Amino acid sequence: MNIHEYQAKELLRQSGIPVQPGAVATTPAEAEAIAQQYGGAVVVKAQVHAGGRGKAGGVKLARTPAEARAAAERILGMSIKGLVVQRVLVAQAADIASEAYVGIIIDRASKRPVVMVSPAGGMDIEEVAASTPERIRRLAVDTRYGLQSFEAMELAFFLYPDVRQARAAARILRQLYNAFMEHGASLAEINPLVTTPAGDLVAVDAKISVDDNELERHPDLAALRDESAEAPSETEARRANLTFIKLEGNVGCVVNGAGLAMATMDLVKHYGGEPANFLDIGGSSNPDKVVSALRIITRDRAVRVILFNIFGGITRTDDVATGIVAAIRQSPLTVPIVIRLTGTNEEEAVRILAGAGLSAMTDMDEAVRAAVSLVGAGKAA
Ligand code: GDP
Ligand code: MN
Repeated sequence: MNIHEYQAKELLRQSGIPVQPGAVATTPAEAEAIAQQYGGAVVVKAQVHAGGRGKAGGVKLARTPAEARAAAERILGMSIKGLVVQRVLVAQAADIASEAYVGIIIDRASKRPVVMVSPAGGMDIEEVAASTPERIRRLAVDTRYGLQSFEAMELAFFLYPDVRQARAAARILRQLYNAFMEHGASLAEINPLVTTPAGDLVAVDAKISVDDNELERHPDLAALRDESAEAPSETEARRANLTFIKLEGNVGCVVNGAGLAMATMDLVKHYGGEPANFLDIGGSSNPDKVVSALRIITRDRAVRVILFNIFGGITRTDDVATGIVAAIRQSPLTVPIVIRLTGTNEEEAVRILAGAGLSAMTDMDEAVRAAVSLVGAGKAA
């Protein structure tokens, strides 16, 4: 789950990290009122789950409340990377002398949180990693001991030769590490971490992603979810208790069980296709889940064929068949469907499907090949 910059900054502030005072506005008048209250210059920032807002025109400095209002007028309703801006953060503008990057992610290879720092802040860290990798320093943290002071200090000196600033940065790194661990984050970054002309450090932008599996333990974080800022398909899938991840291909996959779903995607690739999604309808799938799954997948315009791969164990294949038939009755399909099912109540499932003019295969390999070749046939037509 992603949270907004203003929410992330509040978490950082609670951990002791210096951030600019700011408040959220949903209208230009509110933005003006906030700027009025602060007095001096403010920065008006689009709150969407996307980076690169500055380049897209979603970050504007305003010297007066009237300018803040005008900036909010332009930013609210703007679309950034397909996301419509519904609120802006109005924060006291920071005077910037330099911009650094500090961030923590989970590194799957070392199975540890990795702290990354770079004096080349402000821009995409991926860009820095690609063009000037020597300007990034990394450290994998042993979570038994946490980020030690000397480790934080070593990283901080890579950012600032000045000892006072390095000390401040080391403190921020340890506070960021603590916040990362405490909130069950998969990513926490400050980009840019700025120095002011007076030599102080301030987190000017913040991003935190929380592992969805942590949310049950963190109801306070779960409450930060902004569904209006998410892809509608992912929100709907979560509500229907489906594990869904949108991908770039055109073979829509509906599978029961994460392992079988992964194997199905591998097989689609093996036969030259590209999966449009990962979708696990879960172990005991009632017909309603199947209806939701089909609705979510068919909404994706890229999907050229739908592939069901159901291995009936606890999952009853007749339940899945009932769901497929119900979904198609509600809204007829405009793309071909390939159904593979085998296992619990298979004969009943085949009968239900036949009643709606559908057939099913039992062999997974055959079904995936059929689905991929249907995409090819569609292309040629
Ligand atoms: P992003 O583009 O989505 O990463 O948004 P950021 O919050 O990082 O803002 C982009 C850039 O705008 C920063 O790198 C800064 O250069 C600039 N910026 C953001 N906030 C301020 C501010 O308070 N004062 C000044 N002078 N510049 C700012
Ligand atoms: Mn940024």
